[in-house]
Amino acid sequence: MKIKTTIAGSLPKPTWLAEPEKLWAEWKLKDSDLFKGQCEAALHWIKFQEKTGVDVISDGEQFRKHFVHGFLESIQGIDWNKMTTMGIRNDRYDAEVPTVVNELKRLETVHSKSTEFCLKNTSNDFKITLPGPMTICDTIANGFYSSRKEMAFEFAKILNAEALELEKLGVHTIQFDEPAFNAFTKEASEWGVEILEVAASGLKCKTAVHICYGYGIKQNIDWKKTLGNEWKQYEDFFPTLNNSSIDQVSLECANSRVPLDVLKMLSNKEILVGVIDVANLEIETPSEVCKLLEKVSAYVDYKNIIACTNCGMAPMPFNIAEEKIKSLVAGANLFTKSI
Ligand code: ZN
Repeated sequence: MKIKTTIAGSLPKPTWLAEPEKLWAEWKLKDSDLFKGQCEAALHWIKFQEKTGVDVISDGEQFRKHFVHGFLESIQGIDWNKMTTMGIRNDRYDAEVPTVVNELKRLETVHSKSTEFCLKNTSNDFKITLPGPMTICDTIANGFYSSRKEMAFEFAKILNAEALELEKLGVHTIQFDEPAFNAFTKEASEWGVEILEVAASGLKCKTAVHICYGYGIKQNIDWKKTLGNEWKQYEDFFPTLNNSSIDQVSLECANSRVPLDVLKMLSNKEILVGVIDVANLEIETPSEVCKLLEKVSAYVDYKNIIACTNCGMAPMPFNIAEEKIKSLVAGANLFTKSI
């Protein structure tokens, strides 16, 4: 049996497309040149992942400025001029965010055109990532709905319509990114998982949720220092998640203080095991990747293990991301030989 590989989602953009090593970087191209440029960048990453041997590939999120706002740009009811300063991820850091001022509506498909392009250019299984409803609500201010939960439910319905369209095009996996689960563990269990299932309802393709401790940016690295020796956030909502309809859970395991035995709580799920650190420029060796997969296999049936990165690689240097992906695949192959 072969241990499969995938990546969490985002990848660095080439310097001619957007300023490198920066989140929210402005585009360097405009209008139709922008779409052409995005296609060229996505094509690079598609071919790179194919050549390296990644099984379930992604577009590296080359078509969006940020993993949340890239989706929101096409949604009606959001005022992008009414910026509100808001504490993000339970006040981990402040950000200026747009505000929901009216009923939310998706006027047109957001990712179909770019996804069609990608599917035409690969025969590998293709994964598309969408922001999860709870994380969206932690990245945008609520100036209209009675509660954050109600706003999340509206976003979930919009995400579901988009996801069903993308499924029809032939995507293999639809992944919702919910890093906010780790910041609001109680709410994640109370309503986050349930609303995530609304976003995924009716899907027959693989569904996944990515729950990490954030990109390797300073605010997240500082926050992680406050979490103590053992990170047990996952414990609070894993039982609810294990009973949900979502097929796969993408988690951070490399250089993280998550005690690996918490993975036992997800016995019904396939686990996208983060074996590549995205907050560190050192390239993992294939043998390090293999060793971590071995450790995880003490708690997760190897049939349910898929090797992955801890999180998106958007803020990393381009060549480092490439080298890390090579190690991911080489490490997974070593592990395959050992089982
Ligand atoms: Zn992440």
